[in-house]
Amino acid sequence: MGHIAELTLSTLGERVAASNRDSLDGSQQYVIWESRAIQNDYEVIPCPCALTCWCARHGCQGHYRIKPITFEQFLGRYVQLWAPPNARQILKRAVLDNAKFEGRQRRAVQPLQWLGEHWDMVVAQIRSHTRSGLCDEGVPVITESVTHLYDAKMWSQLYYDGIVPFDTGSRALIKRLGYVDPLNDFTAFNRQLFADLRIFAERHGLSLTELRRLDLPWTLTADIAEPAGGQPLSRLLDKILYSPAKK
Ligand SMILES: [Zn+2]
Ligand SMILES: [Zn+2]
Repeated sequence: MGHIAELTLSTLGERVAASNRDSLDGSQQYVIWESRAIQNDYEVIPCPCALTCWCARHGCQGHYRIKPITFEQFLGRYVQLWAPPNARQILKRAVLDNAKFEGRQRRAVQPLQWLGEHWDMVVAQIRSHTRSGLCDEGVPVITESVTHLYDAKMWSQLYYDGIVPFDTGSRALIKRLGYVDPLNDFTAFNRQLFADLRIFAERHGLSLTELRRLDLPWTLTADIAEPAGGQPLSRLLDKILYSPAKK
């Protein structure tokens, strides 16, 4: 059992709220683009799990799954979510046209080009994974190597309910808290976080709906609509460990 499992309800809620506030104040405004992504790129599917699954035993109302969108739509969203405004177009051009790009996000180019080449196969495989990270055996196994935070962000965007990204600051915190270094074993790192979130929910008697509602970005601004299925689980876990103010 790790750090997240031991947080109080109010500490966890405050951390997530602070992450949202910092995001809204920052130049990248991640939290706005996150809302656009949830509204446009994902669907809530009915929970497919047996009653024995952890999610079903905790009031699961459905899981997020990426829609059959095009790679261009995914890429447009990737740059909105993970790159600052002045790098978005050039990063896109680097992925699509091999344009020269030396910015901080240059390590994103190669994994995104790989994804573009294999898009139909990858998205079909991802859509066939219908479980959430909180399900029994629900954390997807990423077989491609994750060698950089930009790989992790890509996989999280593909599995918004099942894979948690990290940044430089959150990775340092993750290691300090005793979790597996995500660059050593990205799947094991994700399993640890979701296992902890299950213990946290059990300790505080929370249903899955209540867990998702610990992340409430729509209470900050009218630019964010409350999503039908609550917040994706990767968002909740990411914000416990990451704030744009502490890069
Ligand atoms: Zn479920
Ligand atoms: Zn389940």
